[in-house]
Amino acid sequence: VQGMAGQHVAVLGLGRSGLSAAQALQAGGAVPVCWDDNPAARERAGAEGLACRDLSKAGAFEDVAALIVSPGIPHLYPAPNPVVAAALAAGVPVDNDIGLFFRSFATPDWDGFDTAPRVVAVTGSNGKSTTSALIHHILTAAGRPAQLAGNIGRGVLDIDPAVDGEVVVLELSSYQTELARALTPDIAVFTNLSPDHLDRHGGIGGYFAAKRRLFAEGGPDRAVIGIDEPEGGYLAGQLSEGPADDRVIRVSVTRKPGGPGWRVFARKGFLAEYRRGRQVVSIDLRAIAGLPGAHNHQNACAAFAVCRALGLAPRAIETALHSYPGLPHRSQIVAQAGGVTYVNDSKATNVDSAVKALSAFARIRWICGGLQKEGGLSGLAGATDRVVRAYVIGREAAGFALQVDADRVVCGTMAEAVAQAMRDAEPGDTVLLAPAAASFDQYDNFEQRGDDFAAEVRKGLAGQGALP
Ligand code: ADP
Repeated sequence: VQGMAGQHVAVLGLGRSGLSAAQALQAGGAVPVCWDDNPAARERAGAEGLACRDLSKAGAFEDVAALIVSPGIPHLYPAPNPVVAAALAAGVPVDNDIGLFFRSFATPDWDGFDTAPRVVAVTGSNGKSTTSALIHHILTAAGRPAQLAGNIGRGVLDIDPAVDGEVVVLELSSYQTELARALTPDIAVFTNLSPDHLDRHGGIGGYFAAKRRLFAEGGPDRAVIGIDEPEGGYLAGQLSEGPADDRVIRVSVTRKPGGPGWRVFARKGFLAEYRRGRQVVSIDLRAIAGLPGAHNHQNACAAFAVCRALGLAPRAIETALHSYPGLPHRSQIVAQAGGVTYVNDSKATNVDSAVKALSAFARIRWICGGLQKEGGLSGLAGATDRVVRAYVIGREAAGFALQVDADRVVCGTMAEAVAQAMRDAEPGDTVLLAPAAASFDQYDNFEQRGDDFAAEVRKGLAGQGALP
């Protein structure tokens, strides 16, 4: 981190991103003063040579130049965080690691490269990780140096020094875009919008506003925007100077093809790129095993648009799409045996993403349930047509099951759900974990839930003698 040498910078929250921010500040010559309510987290920071200070004490911000807040800390809703409030009251700017990244990401050795885009940032309700990973995969496969960071496992301040011509792909959640004081990607992507995390943003308006910050005036040179919800259509319209404006690339998987400007639409399994009303490219997405379902076609369109904006040839992108290995816990095939496919989509933590997962397969034995999000399961109506039977897990499994409009059985645990689904499954079925709920009632996170599913599947198949 540049530009803060010799200054005290407070860091609130000492998870992965907090620690990495503190270390990056220290490396740039700043003096981080760290705090976390959890003593174990403070101890870890101490072991890393970081100094702690109780930021909730009066006067804690007297000598502090900025407060860096971790994305996991609710700072305004449902209730103002007292440390953040104290910093603001003391006139101390509040920022996060993303803001630090954009403010200090100056690479003087990129001489002669200043016209080409360098940072691609992806936000939206669903498909962020898939789209980011896909962009990174396509670039790498096409021989362009690229790094992937953000909400996807690697902190933005942990990336390696960039090389000439490199593209940094960042996945950004609404928690991250909401706080960052600098957000200046060269290309910004808005995948889609559905209600999620509303408690943290004071409602859908706050949630949309947090994501929209990525597209503020003076922001990206190019915006790739999913227009299948009114919010995306609105944003695209706001950013366009006129119908022929190439600054906005519109993405859709529900609309009729064609129209003015630059568009990448998918219909009936085919991706088509349009420039000024003319189709210039067509790709058969049905042949791409790693990206099943219309929702993944949306992700493919967005990634395609970004790579086109970066100057890649359509055929190079198509070739790379075929070799996309997929991400764990997102439409991930964990086993195939006796004609039954086992799919781990533990990342489907909200209703919308589960609906999308349900639309991608034919005869589904659906493992669902967990900690419900605001709004319950109302958005599920009509989405369970292909569910042969639902196997409901979670502490509130009985209540959850009542809202599922399909044949259903209350299982409670993953072990029970997998065992029952496996007993019932017939050739051609897909056993799909797509919970439509958070995992925290039974697991530490969705990854642990997905791993548990995969382990139970393996155990069951080994018991059947289907696995070596
Ligand atoms: P994010 O990083 O935004 O959470 P992921 O790529 O990890 O997105 O996908 C999260 C879940 O959302 C997946 O499990 C999948 O079922 C679903 N999903 C993926 N892409 C989309 C999309 N474009 N629209 C709706 N749902 C999607």
